[in-house]
Amino acid sequence: MKFATKAIHAGQSPDPTTGAIMTPIYQTSTYTQASPGEHKGYEYSRGTNPTRKALEDCLAALENGKFGLAFSSGMAATETVLKLLRPGDEVITGNDLYGGSYRIFTKLFEPYGIKFHFVDFSNPEIIRQYLNEKTRLIWVETPTNPTLQIVDIRAVADLAKEAKALFAVDNTFASPYLQTPLDLGADIVMHSVTKYIGGHSDIVMGALVVNDEELYNQLFFYYNASGGTPGPQDCFLALRGIKTLHLRMKAHCENGRAIAEYLKDHPKIERVYWPGFSDHPNHHIARNQMRDFGGMISIVLKDNSLENTFRVASSFKVFSLAESLGGVESLLNHPASMTHGSIPKDIREKVGVLDNLLRLSVGVEDIEDLLEDIEQALAK
Ligand SMILES: *Cc1c(COP(=O)(O)O)cnc(C)c1O
Repeated sequence: MKFATKAIHAGQSPDPTTGAIMTPIYQTSTYTQASPGEHKGYEYSRGTNPTRKALEDCLAALENGKFGLAFSSGMAATETVLKLLRPGDEVITGNDLYGGSYRIFTKLFEPYGIKFHFVDFSNPEIIRQYLNEKTRLIWVETPTNPTLQIVDIRAVADLAKEAKALFAVDNTFASPYLQTPLDLGADIVMHSVTKYIGGHSDIVMGALVVNDEELYNQLFFYYNASGGTPGPQDCFLALRGIKTLHLRMKAHCENGRAIAEYLKDHPKIERVYWPGFSDHPNHHIARNQMRDFGGMISIVLKDNSLENTFRVASSFKVFSLAESLGGVESLLNHPASMTHGSIPKDIREKVGVLDNLLRLSVGVEDIEDLLEDIEQALAK
């Protein structure tokens, strides 16, 4: 089945008792048993729930994977992967990460005796010097957040295999419409479903997708033991969002391209980060592993004062100043003080998260209104 058909049908079939075309919201905590242990596949909703199961199967299909797990947040999904680690294990991860991932690595898991190496993945060969027999996990985001660097997923997958380490990709920025890391050799795909997959800024959810059954069973054990599970209403909303994922992503990419090109030579702009530019350092990799370049763009203002940046950030009328991304509405974010506020200043500035950098999540509104809004905000 092709992507658009899977987005609408995978994991979902009309309800057998009523014929309802939409997956029912199974708002139930438990399931009756005919005699002890004799049930219809569902025992207790911390572990499994039919609405959630439909979502998990749909997500697995979209990522070309075998097993999906839906979580109450992206961070709950990330945490479950980290629970595979033991004291003494080492992790190699990117130096341009979602702030919450950096926080959970350094503040929650480092104290348990796990070592994290934060490295630049733009040339995967660099990670060879960090690989050793203790390396248990390689964790990357691509495109990265917020400077939209591209990591060569296949090259990292080959290195991970050599080192017998697990390789996880946070695929939140691309969505499965643009890129399917399992096809390129990754072991685990992680999503903040809150973003493009949900697509309407109305839920907080996460997901993991894997192919290996033993790995799935391990992850499911921690999932059920810890209980970061989402409720059925949220699963229903995620399923509803996914039905238009392909349509939304096309529009995000089209608007993103128009805005990136408009800003590239703008007199008030020092620099535009967008993987679609032919002079982006890893543009050729983006072209190989992604279907298009997405709706995320970061800009560096020429005026580098915090005062000017805050004035511009507060002057948008169509774009809303808010954390998060991937919804149908355009959002704008000041990473240094918002999403990446938990990363120390010297560390974030080293990777380009400057005080005068703004990140745009380009929505699917009319492009003329978006361009006009950007122009008037920059003129302030
Ligand atoms: C938002 C986000 C997360 C965290 O997901 P939540 O749903 O907010 O818990 C992780 N990675 C990336 C790239 C994100 O944008």
